[in-house]
Amino acid sequence: MDRRTLLKLMAAATLAGTTSPIIAAKPAQGKKVLVVGAGIVGASIAYHLAKAGADVTIIDAKSPASHASQGTFAWINATWAKQPRAYHAFNQESVSGWGELQKELGLNIRWGGSLEWFSSEARQEKLEQQIAEQVAWGEPAKMLAASAFERQEPHVNFHGPSRVAFSPNDGAIDPVAATKALLSGAKNLGATLKYPCKLLELTYTGGRLSGAETNMGTFVADKVVLATGAAPDTATQFAGIDLPQRSTPGVIAITKPMPQLLNGVISAPGVHMHQRNDGRVVLGEQGGPPKNDAHRMRLQGRPNAFPSVALSTEHAKRILTVAEQFCPKLAGAEFEGVHIGWRPLPLDGHPVLGLSPERPDVYLAVMHSGVSLAPIVGQLAAHELMSGNTVARLDAYRPDRHFEHVKRY
Ligand SMILES: Cc1cc2nc3c(=O)[nH]c(=O)nc-3n(C[C@H](O)[C@H](O)[C@H](O)COP(=O)(O)OP(=O)(O)OC[C@H]3O[C@@H](n4cnc5c(N)ncnc54)[C@H](O)[C@@H]3O)c2cc1C
Repeated sequence: MDRRTLLKLMAAATLAGTTSPIIAAKPAQGKKVLVVGAGIVGASIAYHLAKAGADVTIIDAKSPASHASQGTFAWINATWAKQPRAYHAFNQESVSGWGELQKELGLNIRWGGSLEWFSSEARQEKLEQQIAEQVAWGEPAKMLAASAFERQEPHVNFHGPSRVAFSPNDGAIDPVAATKALLSGAKNLGATLKYPCKLLELTYTGGRLSGAETNMGTFVADKVVLATGAAPDTATQFAGIDLPQRSTPGVIAITKPMPQLLNGVISAPGVHMHQRNDGRVVLGEQGGPPKNDAHRMRLQGRPNAFPSVALSTEHAKRILTVAEQFCPKLAGAEFEGVHIGWRPLPLDGHPVLGLSPERPDVYLAVMHSGVSLAPIVGQLAAHELMSGNTVARLDAYRPDRHFEHVKRY
C-alpha cells in the first residue's frame, strides 16, 4: 500500500470516530466496492465487478450461501409466474446467462427442463392459458398429454392430469456450489472475501461515504452493495429507505445421493422436486407453514434450521410423503440437509436494484428468484456501479418505486 492510500485510510478511520483496525482490501486500482452479503446475488455482483476491474471486497455476517441461497429450491426458470412481459424477458435472459457462467466457471447445472401440473381442473385450464402466453413470449414451452412424458421421466407417476406443461429451457443448480464458484471466480480476479464479518454502520464525511464499520474493522469503499437478502432492517439502517418486504419461509429437504430418478424439475401438486447431477434429490414444499400460534412463535426469530434433528426429520418425511406419490422410488430416502429458507421478497415480488435515493453511495440488490436472476443482476449491477450510468431496463426495479402488494410466490 502506498503512503497516500494509507493516509487516506487513516483519515477516514479518524473521521469515522473508530479505533478499529482499518482493512484495505487491496491497493486501489479501480473503483473500490464493498459487497455486503455473500449469497448467490452478492457473489454474482462481486464476480461481475471483479471482471470489470473493480477492487472488490465481499463480506458476510455468517458465511457464503448460509441464508436464502442455501434454503432455496434453485430452479432456474422464466415461468408463467414471471409477470409482466418485461420481467419475463429479464428472467429469460438470465436463464441464458447461466449457460454463459456455466462455460466460464465450469458449473454443474442440470438442464432437464421442467414439468408442471395442478390437481384442480380450473387451475389446469389457467395453466393452458399461461403456457399459451409463454409461447407468445418466445418460450419453447408446450402442454401435452401426460403420457407424452413417460419416457422422459420414467420414474414419475403423473397421477391423473390429462395434460402437463413442459418448459424445456429450465434448469436447476446446486446453489451453495454455484455461490462458492462465483466467489472463487471473483477471488481469482483479485477480490477479497471475509466472514463472519457483519456490516454494523456506514459513516459519512461531508455527505460522502467514508467508511463501513464491521466487527472486523473499518472498510473504505467508493460504493457499498447491499445484497443482504431477507435481512429485515438493512435497507432502513444502511440505505435510509423503507423497503417493504413480506418474506415467507419454505422448507427444503435434500436427500443423500440416490440412483437416477428424475431428469428435470417436477412441479407437482404440493411438492417441487429435482435431482442434482450428484444424485441428491431436492424436495421443496409448496404450501407454507401451518398458520397456528406454535409455528408463529417458532418462526419469529427467522430460524434457518429446525431446533432439533427430530423436528427436521419429521418435516423432511412430511414432504417426502407427498413426493412419493409422484415418484414412488423416493420411498426410504435418507436426508442430508433440511433447511428453512426465507424468501427475500419485496412487496410487489420484483427485484429492488439501484442506488438508494437517500444514500447515493449505497446500491441495493434484494430479490426473490435470485437464483434465476443472479447472472443478469450481477452483470447489470456491475455495469451501473462501474460506469455510473443507469440501465433503462432496471428502471422498473428502483428502490424508490411505489410498491404494490402483489402475491407472486
Ligand atoms: C424456499 C425457497 C425457495 C426458493 N426457490 C427459488 C427457485 O426455485 N428459483 C429461484 O430463482 N429463486 C428461488 N428462491 C429465491 C432465491 O433463493 C433468493 O432470491 C436468493 O437466494 C437470494 O440470494 P441473496 O444472495 O440475495 O440472499 P441470501 O442468500 O439470503 O444472502 C444474503 C446474505 O447477506 C448476509 N447479510 C445480511 N445482513 C448482513 C450484514 N449486516 N452484514 C454482512 N452480511 C449480511 C447474510 O448472512 C446472507 O448470507 C427461493 C427462496 C426460498 C427461501
